[in-house]
Amino acid sequence: LSGRLGEVFERLTKRGALGEGDVDEALREVRVALLEADVALPVVKSFVAKVRTRAVGAEVLRSVTPGQMVIKIVNDQLVEMLGGESAGLSLAAVPPVPIMMVGLQGSGKTTSTAKIAKRLTDREKKKVLMASLDTRRPAAQEQLKILGEQAGIATLPIIAGQMPVDIAKRALQAARLQGFDVVMLDTAGRLHVDEALMAEVAAVHAATQPAEVLLVADALTGQDAVNVAEQFKSRAGVTGIVLTRMDGDGRGGAALSMRAITGCPIKLLGTGEKLDALEAFHPDRIANRILGMGDVVSLVEKAAESIEQEEAERLAEQFEKGHFDLNDLAQQLRQMRKMGGIEGLMGMLPGVGKMKKQMAAANVDERILVRQEAMIQSMTAKERRRPEIIAASRKRRIAAGSGTTVQDVNRLLKQHKQMATMMKKVKKLGKKGVMRAGLS
Ligand code: GDP
Ligand code: MG
Repeated sequence: LSGRLGEVFERLTKRGALGEGDVDEALREVRVALLEADVALPVVKSFVAKVRTRAVGAEVLRSVTPGQMVIKIVNDQLVEMLGGESAGLSLAAVPPVPIMMVGLQGSGKTTSTAKIAKRLTDREKKKVLMASLDTRRPAAQEQLKILGEQAGIATLPIIAGQMPVDIAKRALQAARLQGFDVVMLDTAGRLHVDEALMAEVAAVHAATQPAEVLLVADALTGQDAVNVAEQFKSRAGVTGIVLTRMDGDGRGGAALSMRAITGCPIKLLGTGEKLDALEAFHPDRIANRILGMGDVVSLVEKAAESIEQEEAERLAEQFEKGHFDLNDLAQQLRQMRKMGGIEGLMGMLPGVGKMKKQMAAANVDERILVRQEAMIQSMTAKERRRPEIIAASRKRRIAAGSGTTVQDVNRLLKQHKQMATMMKKVKKLGKKGVMRAGLS
């Protein structure tokens, strides 16, 4: 998708002015691109229609940089359709507040239950009790218990043979007696939505009156996830969506479809198997992901503030070449250190969000930049120019030479690859776009 949109916008940035025909031509391709990203057809149609209304006319035609104007309109419309500001969990009820998790088997319900419980415990200092109502899968209740032990979250003691509704009632009862703030109810899934599942969900709902019914859906299942969401929405009183496997290759098309078709807010994103891999939903970030560009414009603007003119020219040339080797990375690392806030800067690069999180998790700061520079210094000139030749033995040598580990070297190489990919994307925007955005 990103490549495709990149091309469209490249052509637009190269034009002096936009006619109605130009907008239509561009939107035809935006349409195809969204379909390729697995966005549902009706959603694509209404999206394109709305963008067209906003794009055709004075707003765009008078703009100095038509291409950027269109990027902005497409982006704004995406953010709007994704639901504007992110909505948190609503826990404003008399404790214990029940939160019910529903969804298909394997969508990530149990994992998300533990993630949310941990988040509420760590960040909001809530006392959370988790209960598994999954009496279908043999080890399901055990699974939640183990996750609870890992995360230090209480789970309801397992009583063999008890039915889901009875477990739910027992959980609420225990929570009341023991002063828990929140009770997370992890329900059983099915391979497909069927009557038995819906009846069970409805019964638990009636017995517990949950403050939130969170539908857990796998972002990678695209169109299927949307169909499932529609059915759960109409029959299970879903109040919000947790989209899992956002760490996968999916472009976020499912997020757009789900939000547009069900009207349910997407509340949280699962971004990995670990219990802290849970993020608030930020429509602007997902819009960027669907467009595949990151916040390139603000990145260049911020860079321009502290990079000297000469270096800025050089950077623009790099962008233009679309080439980015480890020498360039070393220079970037130095600039980042000069600019101080690597956190803010990295957040703007596509694909770097994950790495930023790893860094935050490891509680590292500027030192990591210094170590990364040390690794690059331990490389030969050839390795710096052609990182793809760095195989296992070279990695060991570099790690030994820089006092780091092979894992560190792998991380650095991965980071470089992500940045190089971004450079290629930026190149597609055209040098002019980059220069206009504030580098010169
Ligand atoms: P359930 O059947 O809906 O309860 O699904 P589980 O919570 O048991 O999850 C099924 C599998 O998906 C497990 O291996 C999880 O580790 C994995 N999983 C859950 N959420 C995520 C996520 O956000 N990203 C990734 N990569 N894996 C996930
Ligand atoms: Mg489960």
